[in-house]
Amino acid sequence: MTDQGYLRIATEEAFAPPELITRWRSMLADGSSGDPGFDSLWGFYMGDSPRARQIVERLEDLGERRIADMDATGIDRQIIALTSPGTQIFDAAEGTAIAAAANDVLADACRRHPDRFTGLTAIAPQDPERAAEEIERGVNRLGFRGVIINSHTRGEYLDDKKFWPVLEAAEALDTPIYLHPNTPSPRMIEPMLEAGLDGAVFGFAVETGLHLLRMITSGVFDRFPRLRVVVGHLGEALPFWSYRIDFMHTASLRSGRFPHLSALELAPGEYLRRNIWVTTSGMAWEPAILFTRQVLGDDRVLYAMDYPYQSAPTEVSVHDRLPIDAAALRALYQTNAEKVFGLPPSS
Ligand code: CA
Repeated sequence: MTDQGYLRIATEEAFAPPELITRWRSMLADGSSGDPGFDSLWGFYMGDSPRARQIVERLEDLGERRIADMDATGIDRQIIALTSPGTQIFDAAEGTAIAAAANDVLADACRRHPDRFTGLTAIAPQDPERAAEEIERGVNRLGFRGVIINSHTRGEYLDDKKFWPVLEAAEALDTPIYLHPNTPSPRMIEPMLEAGLDGAVFGFAVETGLHLLRMITSGVFDRFPRLRVVVGHLGEALPFWSYRIDFMHTASLRSGRFPHLSALELAPGEYLRRNIWVTTSGMAWEPAILFTRQVLGDDRVLYAMDYPYQSAPTEVSVHDRLPIDAAALRALYQTNAEKVFGLPPSS
């Protein structure tokens, strides 16, 4: 226990094995990704700007450099996941192989630094059955505490029944899925790219929020009522939209305008408060954090930094100074994460 009375557990922290970076680099070079968002974003990060270089170096490190950065910003533990788009840009066979290799690398680092690192299982949803097996391996053999899915998989979303083996495995093993942003799919990115709004500035949240809302309105959480999903960036704007979504979803059902839209057991916003937890990654902003806690509940909002993309002591200070009591601050930083990811409780 550190001086402030709570551990700071950062829950959306990224890594990438050098082999994955090399493979992405070759995809960019030969133009084979088929994904304009990937080409734009990773074209930048594979460049030689100072920001790009230091991000890639930090993504690749699972040792002393990462721990030094954690110490410098006051972070006790990172929940670490394969950075976006992970394996979801590859064909099924290559994605499955790279996910397993990345999981072995991360599990080894977690074994070397058990007090500082916790891992999430990378999968290739392109092969749902193999992905389900990898979730089981992650939980039962590698000691991982959740699953990372970097939003759409080659333009497809998890409400597609082909992906249900993945959801079924996560629910059966009681391990949460972290639904992390990806660049918008080729079908939605063009107007965003034109305006330079495709990335973290806006496009990530639109794409990931859409993904989660599709899961809700398609009935995924009626089919898998115990499935737990964690999303970053304070819920990718869905808490702010929740009243209007509930109101208009009811109106859409009543109108019969969309014959394939079927009734749900709950209002969309009720799934947010039953199946979804959100983290503060990239949203170190007091009004938004307080609003989200008010809408979803104190027990559903978790701290995240978004290392190495954002790594700022000033943003930690914003969380430390939130006008909430000591128990609530401890929940935000520590005990909510311990519960959601099933970490052994710290004293
Ligand atoms: Ca992130």
